[in-house]
Amino acid sequence: MWKNVIGQERVKKIIRQSLESGKLPNAYLFTGAEGLGKDAMAIELAKALNCLSPVGRLPEACDECANCKQIASLSSPLLQFIVARPHEKGENLDEEDDAKIIEIIREQLALKAADPYYNVQIPNAQLISVKQIRRLRMLLSRSMTGGSKRVLIISEADMMNQQAQNAFLKSLEEPHDNTLIILTSSNPSRLYATILSRCQDVRFDLLEPTEIADALVERDDLDKKQAEFLARLSGGSFSAARGLVNEDVAVLRNQVVQLLRMGLSQSRKNALAEIDNFLPRAGGGSFLEKRHTVEQLLHLLTLWLRDALAISSGSEEYIFNNDQLDDLKRFTSRFGVPINIVKALRAVEIAQRNVHLQLQLRPVVLQMVIEMEQALITA
Ligand SMILES: [Zn+2]
Repeated sequence: MWKNVIGQERVKKIIRQSLESGKLPNAYLFTGAEGLGKDAMAIELAKALNCLSPVGRLPEACDECANCKQIASLSSPLLQFIVARPHEKGENLDEEDDAKIIEIIREQLALKAADPYYNVQIPNAQLISVKQIRRLRMLLSRSMTGGSKRVLIISEADMMNQQAQNAFLKSLEEPHDNTLIILTSSNPSRLYATILSRCQDVRFDLLEPTEIADALVERDDLDKKQAEFLARLSGGSFSAARGLVNEDVAVLRNQVVQLLRMGLSQSRKNALAEIDNFLPRAGGGSFLEKRHTVEQLLHLLTLWLRDALAISSGSEEYIFNNDQLDDLKRFTSRFGVPINIVKALRAVEIAQRNVHLQLQLRPVVLQMVIEMEQALITA
């Protein structure tokens, strides 16, 4: 069922049961790490609910009819797909800038439509604003005709700021006919408890390496060997595997070890030198390319620390970097206190979020290294 969505059989079953019993909730909250297929599932569900010639007994979208095509293109009145945008500066917003931003958003949504696993990248998109939510509420106030079901997807809903969350809460409290709201989030703890309590939480599973490898071969034309290698380093996320496709993984992994070595040498000067050695060479010329490479570095650093955690708790079968076991064991024997590793992982997670928010790379990475040092080297 729903072949456009990779794996997630347990989640598909939950949703299928709701469809079968005719008991869809008013709002879903799809949670789990990036790249597990939360948006893809939301779009697929919107198609299934509105397909004009569904396949099989259960509503499986045909991908051919007008509704399926329009929804997949993210330009259907039946589907609103909301993402974070750059700050709206009110009257000061330059009209030319505004046109540029609208063009970028259009391009990014087209890429997302072509591939629901694409991570939308809009420069300086730091929040979902109250203005966006108000527009949504206007749409919601219009009633729906016919048997169709309107679907609102708020992607990375935790990007709503306080005002936006308050405004959105009102929408959740009012009943809307023939409307399904789907929030997706990899950081649901940033959403108000009052919002969480009004949504049915559906947690997405990490993907199996075989599922990721098969999808990489099928969708991205990778050869099987490379697909399997990247799948193992994906940490269960399809987009993480994809992010590594054009990177030199060996160099990046080496960089991870180097950064840890310098960061843990208790010399701020060494750590800084390492960062200043790495950053200028990272990625291509543009900020986005550089940021992409830094994101991959942070991803591999996370895997490294997770592996250290696995080794220190004696569960070696779950190692991602199993071709680097010796280095890992050396690292773990020196710094492998589990609670410290968990703290270090938290520092990386914060850095990932800040890099995602497009803050300056150098201070973010430096801050992370300092925090990891404090976490891993206990007095
Ligand atoms: Zn269809």
